[in-house]
Amino acid sequence: MLLFGFDASRPCWRLLCAALIFVLPVSLGLWELHTNYLNTLSKQSESAASRALTLMELMLDHAEENNRNMFPLLNHPCETALFTMRRRVVLAPFVRTSNLIADNGVYCNSLLGKVNWLDDNVGYSDGLLRLLPGNFVLPRHPVLAVRSSAGHGAVLSTIDREYIKLMLTLSAPAKGEVLLNVGNSWLNHQGELMVRDPKLPTLATHDLKSSRYPLSIYAGMDLPSVWRALWQVRHLTIMLLLGFSLSIALLVWWLLGRPGSMEGELKRALRAKEFLPYLQPLVSSGDGRVVGAEVLMRWQHPTTGLIRPDLFIPQAEECGIIVPMTRSLMQTVAEQLSQWQQLLPAGFHIGFNISAVHCRDLSLLAECRAFLDHFAPGGITLVLELTERELLVADSHTLGLFKGLDEMGVKLAIDDFGTGHSSLRYLQQFHVDYLKIDQSFIGRIGTESLSEHIVDNVIDLGTRLGLTLVAEGVETRVQADYLRGKGVDYLQGYLFGRPAPLPQFCEGLLSRHRAA
Ligand code: C2E
Ligand code: CA
Ligand code: CA
Repeated sequence: MLLFGFDASRPCWRLLCAALIFVLPVSLGLWELHTNYLNTLSKQSESAASRALTLMELMLDHAEENNRNMFPLLNHPCETALFTMRRRVVLAPFVRTSNLIADNGVYCNSLLGKVNWLDDNVGYSDGLLRLLPGNFVLPRHPVLAVRSSAGHGAVLSTIDREYIKLMLTLSAPAKGEVLLNVGNSWLNHQGELMVRDPKLPTLATHDLKSSRYPLSIYAGMDLPSVWRALWQVRHLTIMLLLGFSLSIALLVWWLLGRPGSMEGELKRALRAKEFLPYLQPLVSSGDGRVVGAEVLMRWQHPTTGLIRPDLFIPQAEECGIIVPMTRSLMQTVAEQLSQWQQLLPAGFHIGFNISAVHCRDLSLLAECRAFLDHFAPGGITLVLELTERELLVADSHTLGLFKGLDEMGVKLAIDDFGTGHSSLRYLQQFHVDYLKIDQSFIGRIGTESLSEHIVDNVIDLGTRLGLTLVAEGVETRVQADYLRGKGVDYLQGYLFGRPAPLPQFCEGLLSRHRAA
């Protein structure tokens, strides 16, 4: 099948077209599903972040309230403040420990009592919040420190990561993740603390800042999770999309592989080297020696079998594919026949049927040169047979081509002579060497006086023009004797041999050679 000038039936094009037909709708469909689903997921992330933020602010409200409640204890000795401190910590939701801080550092801890720690007050966002990797009691157990200042002192409470983990997990959407961000630190729902360079999800993200505390909640998903989620909710649609695209692709593959047009089928056959040369002998009328052969094309079709040329040559001529077909036939004959070179008498005629369309192509010169190059100089006489039914235009192009052929020693024959309308001028213009008298006249020799009369006239004309005469379609002795008597130089027909595959023709030549 020809699509926009290229042969889409070639396996590589078929595969490419089918693959495109599969990939395009699949990618467009998946992209559409993916984008739509991302919108849904973005909304889920948004509500997850806002849920987490509300809970986080609630926790901090409790922690801040606890801190404020402890302000009156500041500047009191730890021994006197400790009991009240512990009571408040126990009552305050989410708070694990509280510390009293004076000018000279942390001096009272709700769990340990009197302490003397350095007050590391840097790194707090807005002086209020800081995610710490752990504390004195549990060094690898992150906590969120909430610091409230009052005059020269401060109260610092810590919220355990377990509460934050639980809050983040409960808020997160099905396949998504929610993280708490304070300053440069991030805490995920597994309770892992990441500083500076966190691995954040990149799809369907939502970053929600608190208006009351220096923190934000980040929610989102990574690609594998998005696809897992998408597959879970849309697996039927995805399967239908894949199935539909695959069916269309298979249909396209099948359609392109069908013997669509005759042209496509001829191209396929040419690629598959299904056109074979059959050779029919040309004998000298004088002594009956085989002096040459005409190459006749046959189509060895994989299902139909051997096809006669008149069933496909006209279509091949119509679409121009006859040119590469003849080129390929000439190559095959050259390759196979050159192996039998020693057997061939010097100047052995090899005639190819050339369509008029081929004469508009200068490549014919190169093809004849390539053909002759396979043989020793003078070993082969190459004859191009041009049927009289397709008249050539004697323009500068054709004349130039024939001049080139003549210089190369290639002979011209007018085929089916007597059936067309070639004038004397025409014969002279093209420097014709042979006239092949059409078999329709030969067939009537001995039966109709009119045909004999025409044959006589053709022979007479050819002789006067100095052309070599060939009679085709000679089937009987009577015909052969008649033609010989009239001085026809060469004879061709079933009487001397039917067209046969090239190797078989050469073997026939070999046995004649041995018999002689
Ligand atoms: P053509 O060039 O006139 O070839 C002679 C035809 O007569 C051949 O038919 C041949 O098999 C047949 N023939 C030979 N001797 C006899 C005989 O004694 N009696 C009868 N009844 N027929 C005989 P074929 O091979 O079927 O070819 C038919 C035509 O197809 C050819 O006529 C030629 O015009 C065309 N053709 C064949 N091969 C090619 C080719 O390679 N290129 C082109 N352009 N045309 C070709
Ligand atoms: Ca012919
Ligand atoms: Ca003919």
